[in-house]
Amino acid sequence: MSNTIKTEAIVLRKMRYGEADSILHIYTRQFGRIGAIAKGVRRSKSRFGGRLEPFFRLDMVLHEGRGELATITSVDTLDGYSHLRARAESIDSAAKVGDFVLKLFDDREKNEPAYNLIANVLALLDADPRASRREVSLAFRAKMLLASGFSPELGSCVHCGSSEDLVAFSPPSGGVVCRDCREAGDFDFGESAYAFLTGAIAAPLAEAPDAAPEALRQSDRAITATLAHHANVKVRDLV
Ligand SMILES: [Zn+2]
Repeated sequence: MSNTIKTEAIVLRKMRYGEADSILHIYTRQFGRIGAIAKGVRRSKSRFGGRLEPFFRLDMVLHEGRGELATITSVDTLDGYSHLRARAESIDSAAKVGDFVLKLFDDREKNEPAYNLIANVLALLDADPRASRREVSLAFRAKMLLASGFSPELGSCVHCGSSEDLVAFSPPSGGVVCRDCREAGDFDFGESAYAFLTGAIAAPLAEAPDAAPEALRQSDRAITATLAHHANVKVRDLV
């Protein structure tokens, strides 16, 4: 069985393969994550030009055969994010976005909100040097959690339902706990972390609220712990 598919896609990772080929991990609007091979892409006269690079957003045609990898047959650039590529901090942030997405999604499943978030964060990193601040990176992760159905419970204590005196975060329960319900293994999650994380989820990425280092550290830990316990995904802390 073979099949031709057209999709908008963002290149997240590229690896050399053989003499002139590359294997790419891409995230597509229509199909979610796809592994693909680009034949001859590393030849100087490749028809792909320099477009099959990480953080290019492309219109892509792929051919699917019996193998695990699709074959990329043509690409058109939608955005190359050239300003992003000119700044080391923006590249670093974009690389962390790519790593995070590849950890979070390991198979093919359409998730258009996730695709839009990836495109948004790259556009923002391209447009604004300040988008490489940690607040935006954490806001992106928090929104991706929401988009993939692993959002932490932040509204009330996961054990008793109280909305008062919420002081800690429970990794096994995936949410905040009040002082009375706090157990060994729960970690401090203060008011500023709470304000940051709920604010970051509610606001557009570009308007991620500023926060003190401790609030960012606690928010980062809440995201990492939620993923580890509920999605079986281990990501590196950002903060
Ligand atoms: Zn409680």
